[in-house]
Amino acid sequence: MTEQTTVTTATAKPVPTLPDAQTVTSVTHWTDRLFSFRVTRPQSLRFRSGEFVMIGLMGDPDPATGRTKPLLRAYSIASPSWDDELEFYSIKVQDGPLTSKLQHIQVGDEIILRPKPVGTLVHDALLPGKRIYFFSTGTGFAPFASLLREPQTYEDYDEVIVTHTCRDVAELEYGRQLVEGLENDPLIGEMVAGKLKYYPTTTREESTKMGRITEKLKSGELFTDLGVPPISPETDRAMVCGSIGLNNDLKEILEGFGLREGANSEPAEYVVEKAFVG
Ligand SMILES: Cc1cc2nc3c(=O)[nH]c(=O)nc-3n(C[C@H](O)[C@H](O)[C@H](O)COP(=O)(O)OP(=O)(O)OC[C@H]3O[C@@H](n4cnc5c(N)ncnc54)[C@H](O)[C@@H]3O)c2cc1C
Repeated sequence: MTEQTTVTTATAKPVPTLPDAQTVTSVTHWTDRLFSFRVTRPQSLRFRSGEFVMIGLMGDPDPATGRTKPLLRAYSIASPSWDDELEFYSIKVQDGPLTSKLQHIQVGDEIILRPKPVGTLVHDALLPGKRIYFFSTGTGFAPFASLLREPQTYEDYDEVIVTHTCRDVAELEYGRQLVEGLENDPLIGEMVAGKLKYYPTTTREESTKMGRITEKLKSGELFTDLGVPPISPETDRAMVCGSIGLNNDLKEILEGFGLREGANSEPAEYVVEKAFVG
């Protein structure tokens, strides 16, 4: 069951009181573990779709000195580079230093955003290809929420395949709504049509497609389901964003298909980023 609630305003007026403050313009709660939110975008902030930034809130005062300092964490920007606002897709860790607080933000509140975007899940880190795979689990969908709305994705590739694996069906909902909205998007709808394939799976709750993406790759079920040939370094490129365990397993599988890991400085056939540490 999805317990989706959204609060939005078009009139939130930023009155910055924090360093690098941005104002929250909308918050959507997807489940008791996941929410997304949008904030104002600093005019000077330029980034490449797929990159991440440090965001946060002021921490609690130090009991000895009474001073507070920013509590910052890495977050993928889930909105594309052309968007007027910035979107983030977040976990709620009940005892997490940041997200125990961040999950309570409301429209008009401020967050801290350090305007220094970085990351490897960018088109520049890949050599040209025919087909691109975005492999994600959990909040690892966030950088692909950006790249799926980026026109360059459809200019550079004939086919775009996005896989998203979560424990439960409700945890797929943010991604599902985003993907389903793409074909009607006034900016990129026409570019997306016929190119995008969405492959959601669950590992715990019953759904139409169950199981880990690593198993579906190893067995070849993914290729059969999608009607595409097995991954090859001549045609296929991949971006991966999940837990460290998933990333390592996928690296091994992709290298087994002959893909090499790329970087901004040395583009190749696949790139990886952690969705979180730990
Ligand atoms: C490059 C990078 C990009 C990131 N992008 C995002 C993002 O777009 N959205 C997001 O929610 N988080 C993202 N994270 C994780 C984020 O930085 C924080 O860890 C998260 O917000 C929790 O912060 P916290 O202070 O509440 O708890 P922390 O002390 O940071 O984490 C507590 C524990 O919670 C678990 N955890 C943390 N983050 C997640 C997560 N996303 N999914 C599942 N379990 C988690 C880990 O086991 C961790 O040890 C990213 C991390 C990195 C390194």
